[in-house]
Amino acid sequence: MLDELVAALGDDVVVVDPDVVDSYRFDRSNGPEPGRALAVVRARSTEDVQATLRWASAHRVPVVPRGAGTGLSGGSTAVDGCITLSTERMRKIRVDPQAMTATVQPGLLNAEVKAAAREHGLWYPPDPSSFEICSIGGNLATNAGGLCCVKYGVTSDYVLGLEAVLADGRAVRLGGTTVKDVAGYDLKRLFVGSEGTLGIITEATLRLRPLPAPAATVAATFADVVAAGRAVVEVMGRVRPSALELMDRAAVRAVEEVKPMGFDESVGAVLLGQSDVRRAEVEAIADAATGAGATYVAVTDDVDEGDLLMGGRRMAIPCVERLGRVLIEDVGVPIPRIPDLIAAVEKIAATHDTLIPIIGHAGDGNFHPLVTFDAADDAATARAMSAFDDIMLAALDLGGTVTGEHGIGTLKARHLQRQLGPDVLELTRAIKAAIDPTGILNPGKWV
Ligand SMILES: Cc1cc2nc3c(=O)[nH]c(=O)nc-3n(C[C@H](O)[C@H](O)[C@H](O)COP(=O)(O)OP(=O)(O)OC[C@H]3O[C@@H](n4cnc5c(N)ncnc54)[C@H](O)[C@@H]3O)c2cc1C
Repeated sequence: MLDELVAALGDDVVVVDPDVVDSYRFDRSNGPEPGRALAVVRARSTEDVQATLRWASAHRVPVVPRGAGTGLSGGSTAVDGCITLSTERMRKIRVDPQAMTATVQPGLLNAEVKAAAREHGLWYPPDPSSFEICSIGGNLATNAGGLCCVKYGVTSDYVLGLEAVLADGRAVRLGGTTVKDVAGYDLKRLFVGSEGTLGIITEATLRLRPLPAPAATVAATFADVVAAGRAVVEVMGRVRPSALELMDRAAVRAVEEVKPMGFDESVGAVLLGQSDVRRAEVEAIADAATGAGATYVAVTDDVDEGDLLMGGRRMAIPCVERLGRVLIEDVGVPIPRIPDLIAAVEKIAATHDTLIPIIGHAGDGNFHPLVTFDAADDAATARAMSAFDDIMLAALDLGGTVTGEHGIGTLKARHLQRQLGPDVLELTRAIKAAIDPTGILNPGKWV
């Protein structure tokens, strides 16, 4: 049966070498053991994607879309007998400076889209910490966030239109290229963040903005991380920073080991804020931090210094990964509940005797408690799994969400059901059945 697909697309596109196929099995989530794919299709064009889906639909073969595999929820991990559909060779981009848009294929990295925009003095804002290694297709499919989203919004805020290939191989255009467009249901928004469960995104037209002014940075340290959380609530009640990031003691220590930022052992937590409009705004952040009990506050206009500090924050996940296996949480809560969430995570860490460094896009109320454990120790692993679940339950109890930006994938499917409740779950399943009636697109993920 696979011969048909190989004959249609060639063995350069349909890869069956087991070692190569295996190298596409995992993402960065450390979640449940993935299945084994039949083959990897390394599509070159929308037509290749269409041919693959027509074939898969006819033979009821599951298809797992895949960008760069940096996902943290098991969204692009293989399922048994699937085709892994990689978009890494689909790399065209066209910037229209007058319309301030970029029309991109999914395989480009986020950093490459930013670089192409910059050549025209323009900016594509969404900036996951992984921006140098993740694809724009993956960003669209997860509705990725990042550091500047506190001021500039998330991926979906930048999407004017999409081309997507449906399960039966039809290519559809959702939205368009105009700034305003309210014709019909907003289906492009439905596809953004749908994690490959509704279609394969093969092109997108993205909004660009003028480049922002260089940011001024404030760094504030606290005796403990709950105090830093209270400072976040204060700051967000006063100003709109262009980034507001938090790291607790364990995360700061892990980063200091690899990429020193200059914080000593006594620091209980660090809050990093930036403003790209005016110095007065970082000073307002500094004042709010001081008022909330910061032990030390420093403000700088030096862009390199700001980059060093934010670079350290971006490195936090890989640095903590040196300490053991990590399950990366992604919970979000309303801003006023941030201190409660942080306190709950600290309690969960103590109850389960598990190391859980806390980092977060604090200004969005979006936190990544990093549940760290020794994977060779069964008891430690079981405690970590319980802690991971308990953090999601705590976020839901606080009126929050189980995922702010990484998505549901295989890791959080049970908890999505809890968050949505029976009526919305039924609606979600009805939408999935209407768009992918044979259920071949990314099965086992979501619901
Ligand atoms: C160190 C590190 C830091 C990170 N920081 C952030 C962060 O700050 N913010 C954030 O949001 N994320 C972050 N991430 C997570 C990850 O980088 C993002 O989720 C990213 O958007 C995934 O892109 P990808 O190309 O790697 O997608 P993949 O992992 O390949 O896929 C992700 C999901 O998208 C689907 N998919 C991929 N391409 C398509 C397509 N063309 N059509 C339909 N579905 C598709 C897949 O099936 C899967 O469900 C981080 C990851 C790492 C490793």
